[in-house]
Amino acid sequence: MEIIDSHTHWGPSVTMGIEVTTTELLRQAEQSGVGKIVIFPFPSQALADQAINAQVLAEANREHAFIPYYYIPEDLRPIPREKGFYGGKWHWTRGVQDASSNYQVLNDPRLRGFIEESEAINLPIIFEEELAFTDTFVGMTKTMKIIIPHLGLLGGNPLDFLAVFKKREHVYFDTALAGQETIVRFIKDIGAERVLFGSDIPFGTMKNELNKVLSLPIRDADKELILSKNVKRLIGFD
Ligand SMILES: [Zn+2]
Repeated sequence: MEIIDSHTHWGPSVTMGIEVTTTELLRQAEQSGVGKIVIFPFPSQALADQAINAQVLAEANREHAFIPYYYIPEDLRPIPREKGFYGGKWHWTRGVQDASSNYQVLNDPRLRGFIEESEAINLPIIFEEELAFTDTFVGMTKTMKIIIPHLGLLGGNPLDFLAVFKKREHVYFDTALAGQETIVRFIKDIGAERVLFGSDIPFGTMKNELNKVLSLPIRDADKELILSKNVKRLIGFD
């Protein structure tokens, strides 16, 4: 079965004083039978040094197992598609990371243009904010493919995210760090088509996060969707 990890961090983190190396990601991939890995920078690193986006891209050009995502900067520049990114990462923009959203961003005059441009580019964006922020943002979009990481765990209660976005066909979720029971609940409610496997290395390990999905009491066809087919469809990979 083809397996793609749709959520890992690559490179140095200034605040954490660690670095996730290519060697480490490939080691975990080999150990787990993962064939391709989505990589993006640590948020703190991207804020400190915007050159990290170019470094992620250069690394993915050297190492073909990597699928590079663009860290969306605070001035809301959309993914520069011609460069070869396959998606984007939006992370508590101008807010307090993993804690509180900055609602002023929703009034930023550049936001409309960002959304229009992103919808034209048509690549998925892993989007992490509080539930109320995410809800307002999603309401401003029409076709934008939004992946909420951790089933919403860091932005609120996953089941609240599920209730709010159940009918939003363009909103997806990744399994990183979420519990098996919650993952099953999501699959039952919105279908395996809208759930993606991710490990969130270094906050999770590929092996543990993957075993969680592999041991779910669901059909193999649904596992295939979660483990590779959904992300391939979203990023236009064939
Ligand atoms: Zn992450």
